[in-house]
Amino acid sequence: MKQATRTTRAARTALTARKTAARATAGLAVIALTQALLAPTASANHGGSGVEPDNSGQYFQKYYLNSAANTASGHGKSQLERTDISTHWTTNWSDVRLRDWWGDEGNANVYGWARCEESNWWNGKCDKILVFFNEYTMSGKSAAKWRSLACHEIGHTGDLGHRGSGSNPYSADSNYNSCMQTYLNSSGWPQNLDNHDINAVNAGV
Ligand SMILES: [Zn+2]
Repeated sequence: MKQATRTTRAARTALTARKTAARATAGLAVIALTQALLAPTASANHGGSGVEPDNSGQYFQKYYLNSAANTASGHGKSQLERTDISTHWTTNWSDVRLRDWWGDEGNANVYGWARCEESNWWNGKCDKILVFFNEYTMSGKSAAKWRSLACHEIGHTGDLGHRGSGSNPYSADSNYNSCMQTYLNSSGWPQNLDNHDINAVNAGV
């Protein structure tokens, strides 16, 4: 009985070795696909409405931003840079476009938002993300509040959802340290990601 078990195990080992050898010749594209499909989702234990990026190197394009949004974008990008996502500027819309908006109708009570504009066909993650800064509702707001908004919306591009009360599902932020608060104006306009946010991004990269 013991002999039989050893024989079976040896046979399995040999089979595994053959399969591994076959896989090694299958090409880099297949290996990359397998890893992507097995990757955990970043929104686990975070909730809200994040956009899952399709790679861990994100290129940001500024698109008709006013000077306040332009300056704040640098802060938001540097906050995402604290995670395992590397961030870069570009003049093309390859990953994330940060764009202006002037919403005095329909979006009058919204400071900004982020959405997936084009999904990656083979893994369902987001290839092209749009971030809107509402220059109408943000008109006259301080540079600090603009930094809070940029941190929040660019945080969404790292698949972060909302913190605090008011969105469902959400994860708590008892000390109001996270810029991912659902309502920035009633939570003191936090300007940075907190450790919970950073861990949530890194879990999905
Ligand atoms: Zn939001």
